[in-house]
Amino acid sequence: MTAEGTSTDVLVIGAGQAGLSSAYHLSRSPLRHLVLDAEPAPGGAWQHRWPSLVMGTVNGIRELPGTTPPHADPAEQARIAVPRWFADYERQFDLRVERPVRVLRVEHDGDGLAATTDGGTVRARALINATGTWTRPYVPFVPGAAEFAGRQLHTHDYRGPGEFVGKRVVVIGGGISAVQLLLEIAPVAAAHTWVTRRPPEWREGPFDEAAGRAAVAMVEERVRLGLPPRSVVSVTGLPVTDITRAGIDAGILVARPMFTRIVPDGVMLPDGSFVAADILLWCTGFRPALDHLAPLRLRGPGGGIVMDGTAVAADPRIHLVGYGPSASTIGANRAGRAAVRDLTRWLAHPEDRAA
Ligand code: FAD
Repeated sequence: MTAEGTSTDVLVIGAGQAGLSSAYHLSRSPLRHLVLDAEPAPGGAWQHRWPSLVMGTVNGIRELPGTTPPHADPAEQARIAVPRWFADYERQFDLRVERPVRVLRVEHDGDGLAATTDGGTVRARALINATGTWTRPYVPFVPGAAEFAGRQLHTHDYRGPGEFVGKRVVVIGGGISAVQLLLEIAPVAAAHTWVTRRPPEWREGPFDEAAGRAAVAMVEERVRLGLPPRSVVSVTGLPVTDITRAGIDAGILVARPMFTRIVPDGVMLPDGSFVAADILLWCTGFRPALDHLAPLRLRGPGGGIVMDGTAVAADPRIHLVGYGPSASTIGANRAGRAAVRDLTRWLAHPEDRAA
């Protein structure tokens, strides 16, 4: 718990990959800092991933500064292996994360910022926000959703194929989660339908550095313009692997256009056809968890926050890491370093504030 009235140079909110990278670099800087995390244990959002997501099926976990990713058994659950790695990392580098402490809101406070938490108030000269997206599952509005008589759940709530046995399932979404979950559910479901807003974009061949850079640049451009970020994963396309190819050949990974209406016992497709459903599984992504920053009024007319690298363009004391182009393990790692480098310079030269 934080003591009432704590004051520091840099407050880091969140201790997932982005927050830990920031904490590592801060611990090697002259800046005083405090890291708060809402979870009772290390691991960020990884501790909540569904049990069937194993190290062999994650997209790839990249290093934290000063270390390499764990050599985990491909069959080990990601929700066990990654949090264990984070816990070891915090111990190895003596990164002191205060948890569980939830930041409720951040406001301007004279020259600095004041964060109200469930354990007291923290004052800081600058902020690195690393709160991820896991707590903000997104479900698009579709007419009739409230009348659906079956069950609706989001990727966030998925626990495994067991609860889909014998059910008619509609999986919604064009991302990797939709593909992975559909492949798990299809063998046990009574019927399965996949719907996507746009036809799925399958990507043949390896995802090399150049493709990665191009994807990140695309998201970077959006946040530079103050548009809501798309996830990096959403612009990389769906990898064709032996598993997905088999799913396509078996007729499982064949998408139909997104439905236009939900009715009590199913969904209506744009061509007027009806698909009966007991369960709608929304694999429709997440949004940045930034509600606690609302009092700072960072959002612009584009619906997003205008960014300059990891800094909020309008207020360079505030950095968002793991946001937009850095919303991946590799991006989060780099963003932590960039944010600390910028803040170290910026806080040491207050005269730059006028610039
Ligand atoms: P998180 O890991 O979500 O950590 C955020 C932390 O902030 C949490 O501990 C949370 O409790 C805390 N927090 C949130 N709000 C508050 C608050 N108000 N006060 C205090 N603490 C707060 N990326 C890859 O590179 N490879 C993959 O295979 C991959 N798979 C993914 C699978 C899924 C289903 C999802 C959703 C994402 C995946 N990603 C993957 C993206 C990747 O997980 C993240 O971008 C990356 O781990 C960076 O995480 P983070 O630190 O930004 O956030």
